[in-house]
Amino acid sequence: MQNYVAELQELKRNSCFRSIKNIEEKSSKYIMFEGKKMLNFSSNDYLNISTNRELILEFCEKYKNSPEFLFSSASARLLTGNLLCYKDFERKIASMFNKESALLFNTGYQCNQSIVSTLFTKADCIFSDKLNHASIVSGLKLSEAKHFRYKHNDYDMLEKMLITHRSSYKNAIIISESVFSMDGDIADIKKLVELKKKYNCFLMIDEAHAFGVFGDNLAGVSSELNLCDDVDIFTVTLGKSLASVGAVAVSNNIIIDYLINKAPGFIFSTALPSVNVLWSMFLLEEKFDFLVKQKEKLNSLFKKVHEFYPTVSSSQIIPVILNEAERTKNVANYLQNEGYYVLPINPPTVPVGTSRLRLSLTSDIEFNEIKSLLEKVQCKAIG
Ligand code: PLP
Repeated sequence: MQNYVAELQELKRNSCFRSIKNIEEKSSKYIMFEGKKMLNFSSNDYLNISTNRELILEFCEKYKNSPEFLFSSASARLLTGNLLCYKDFERKIASMFNKESALLFNTGYQCNQSIVSTLFTKADCIFSDKLNHASIVSGLKLSEAKHFRYKHNDYDMLEKMLITHRSSYKNAIIISESVFSMDGDIADIKKLVELKKKYNCFLMIDEAHAFGVFGDNLAGVSSELNLCDDVDIFTVTLGKSLASVGAVAVSNNIIIDYLINKAPGFIFSTALPSVNVLWSMFLLEEKFDFLVKQKEKLNSLFKKVHEFYPTVSSSQIIPVILNEAERTKNVANYLQNEGYYVLPINPPTVPVGTSRLRLSLTSDIEFNEIKSLLEKVQCKAIG
């Protein structure tokens, strides 16, 4: 036990100790915390759907008598945990990416970890952006394949790695997020497609933070750029913009059949409750126009913010990098006192020395609200 105590003390000394916050209530862009109503700048509910009571009640009213309105699947999909709505939803998501097939996982973490650790053998290699999500990194560690991590969005470095290593391996894959979760910048997917073709690799794009926010059909950045056909595997998470739960791997029939047969994170895990799958489908099929309206509001908001306050970001995620954890914590506390729910992000979520505030914009936030927050940040942290 002593080593755990010492490590926890070390985390506290470095302002990196994590604890679960007792949030009292959430409603659209607001959050109640410690008896105080604040504007929520820390949510991935980018379209402000997760607390929309009208939608929830409409959904319940419409589906309460459906045989699929169940709160537990009570089994893995390959046993008795499957109902028709799962396949219908997978077909729906696959069609949004113009792909043959898709497979639901219970979380994005499980989905990424399963794809990365299952598909590649000792004879293969993986090229992964250094800032890819922890679930991808975990997949790299579990995989038998050799992996190489290139500097964030540094495609010259990636190409050098491809030149040096690609030919020594059988299959190879390049993996990147589209919108990066902690920086809000966007990978150059066109360049990644060019490299994948030049060096005969697969390409996997995690659209977790882009799904619902980019693309006319809400499918993300690759779709907005018309590049879905050139990407071999997508990860889509459903717990962010879609205000649901779970994730989907999207690819061709062979890859999806392989995951169904070989991915432990799929085979040995109780399936999502069908009510969640129905809810995801309800939003995408029946509330699509509302989602698009929310997406458009959010796009106008973040574009205006980028004009006013340029950062590395090209999306709804705006990092304010303050470097030291202690300083970041102090600024976050100050902002919370001022009525803005902003959280510090520390290592290991971000590299050491790059502690930051991660401001995430959601559709219902007004420009003036983010403007006064940014003015306070500038005044307190920079000025
Ligand atoms: N991929 C990215 C880029 C993420 O940021 C996250 C979660 O924050 C995940 C995957 C994991 O998704 P989930 O929260 O559904 O496990």
